[in-house]
Amino acid sequence: MSRHTFETEVSQLLHLMTHSLYSNKEIFLRELISNASDALDKLNYLTLTDDRFKQLKYEPRIDIKIDKENKTLTVADTGIGMNEEDLVENLGTIARSGTKSFIEKLSGDAKKDSLLIGQFGVGFYSAFMVADKIEVLTKKAGEDKAYLWVSEGKGEYEIKEAQKESHGTEIKLHIKEGEEEFLESYRIESIVKKYSNHIPFPIYLEEEVEKEGKKEKEVRQINKASALWRLPKSEISDEEYKDFYKQISHDDNDPLLWIHTKAEGTIEYTTLFYIPSEPPIDLYRVDYQSGVKLYVKRVFITDDDKELLPTYLRFVRGIIDVEDIPLNISREMLQQNTVLMKVKKASTKKILTELKKLKEKDREKYIEFFKKFGKVLKEGLYSDFENRDLLLDLMLFKSSKREGYIDLAQYKEAMKEDQKAIYYITGENESLLRNSPLIEQFKKRDIEVLLMDDEIDTIVLPMVPSYKDIPFKSVTTTDVEEDLGLKLEKADEEKYKELIVKMKEILKDEVKDVKVSNRLSDSPACLVFDKNDPDYQMQQMLKQMGQTELPKVKPILEINPEHEIFNKIILKNDYGALYEIAPVILDEAKLSEGMEIDDIWEFTKRLNKLIAKAI
Ligand code: ADP
Repeated sequence: MSRHTFETEVSQLLHLMTHSLYSNKEIFLRELISNASDALDKLNYLTLTDDRFKQLKYEPRIDIKIDKENKTLTVADTGIGMNEEDLVENLGTIARSGTKSFIEKLSGDAKKDSLLIGQFGVGFYSAFMVADKIEVLTKKAGEDKAYLWVSEGKGEYEIKEAQKESHGTEIKLHIKEGEEEFLESYRIESIVKKYSNHIPFPIYLEEEVEKEGKKEKEVRQINKASALWRLPKSEISDEEYKDFYKQISHDDNDPLLWIHTKAEGTIEYTTLFYIPSEPPIDLYRVDYQSGVKLYVKRVFITDDDKELLPTYLRFVRGIIDVEDIPLNISREMLQQNTVLMKVKKASTKKILTELKKLKEKDREKYIEFFKKFGKVLKEGLYSDFENRDLLLDLMLFKSSKREGYIDLAQYKEAMKEDQKAIYYITGENESLLRNSPLIEQFKKRDIEVLLMDDEIDTIVLPMVPSYKDIPFKSVTTTDVEEDLGLKLEKADEEKYKELIVKMKEILKDEVKDVKVSNRLSDSPACLVFDKNDPDYQMQQMLKQMGQTELPKVKPILEINPEHEIFNKIILKNDYGALYEIAPVILDEAKLSEGMEIDDIWEFTKRLNKLIAKAI
């Protein structure tokens, strides 16, 4: 016998399981059956592809036994089983990084944490919500020794050698006091029907029944055991679709949308995709878990192939079941398989098209979707050229002229007759963008500007040239002035020469250049970046990504010569006043564009001095 302690994260998770106020305890059975089904899938695959397993008796089934006297509930499968190493690896640690990072985020507040549990699969360990002791008796297919794993879920577990006739796993739960409902056959049956009806293997329930005064054991199948995705759509109810989603995604929420496709052209395949209503916990992790399972002719192949759909659709859950691929195809070959590539291409298009339909049919629901997944979808704009037009149609933006969201079709519709581009401004904060000096002239001319306050916009937009042949243009680019007919006359440049020279001299360490601009209306100045320099958002992002050694990028200060401040200076010929005023104007411009200023105390000191003078 050997004693082991759980990995820290497992202990944390177990503590959470036993102390949480999570009310949906019944899901433990879904998790155990899902594991059993995976184990059967894995063995099925081996018997079909690996010579060493071809002789093995493969009789897939899951058996649930209730023993009221001893207060135990057992879930047994005839799947692949585990050896000692597997037990330590699988039932002593948490392999999924997404789950790990989730546990790190737990607050310790039982109520809040309970809400979180519903958002991801807690797997095997969830059984400790209803059991105070669990025994796992298991024997790996093709091996001689069987093992018994035992734990009370309090930091430790034991493994010892044991006897078991055939391969597979038997999980015996000693049901806690107060959880006796899980020893009632009607309860178990209803849970199985709800979550596991379409597990493609038969699930049997053994119970004691009284016949003519005598107790007898009765075994009967309690699930349909058909692969849901293989049924015709007309035979599947919404409830069944939803329950199946919960079964494969481990998510307690209903899905937002599902897309069930049976293709019967040159390649035959069935897909059932779900769009979740809540983001998966590992959505922004590089090592996210794929949500799509691949089957070939109903045989499970893998749930760990991220190439089945493009990365920007990584929130999609579901099944791809293909007919014309050899079962024993290797992982490497999967990636290059032309059939799969075609399925991927068609599936991507299908999912995007359905999302577009949703956008047209149910705007509110689509907005909910976009708020949660729009950021991820945007990644497609620079990675999937083929679907760029479709993706652009799916984008929603905030706008200077309206509340809420608009799409590009609406923008185009509202464009002025001679308008040359789709104008946008990027920054961190919507209200700053709405009031930015950079869009004053646009407002005056009633031209709409898209407000991009998502940090990914800064990266994506410069890579997207146009929408329906209308170019995208940042309001910070210098030729915007030309677009708006704001070019300065030669004579004007002469008039402001002295002003510019003085400003440059004073601010030479802070700015790359000082220019007269006509893009401003109410503000005295604004800041832009040279087109070869990264703009402010990009600089912030590079910093966040750990690039601390960046050279300081100086902005270009554009001033509004018509502004009262400069008017007065020119009128009074008092360029000396600029020594006090110029740094304040620079800082003001920074603030109004959401940039940090170097020295806030210096700024307020200068400002106060100017105020005192004005009184
Ligand atoms: P998950 O199923 O999400 O990977 P679990 O905690 O439920 O997480 O299970 C951990 C691992 O233990 C599984 O990935 C699998 O390798 C193994 N396992 C669990 N139940 C069984 C079973 N009935 N038969 C074989 N292996 C199992």
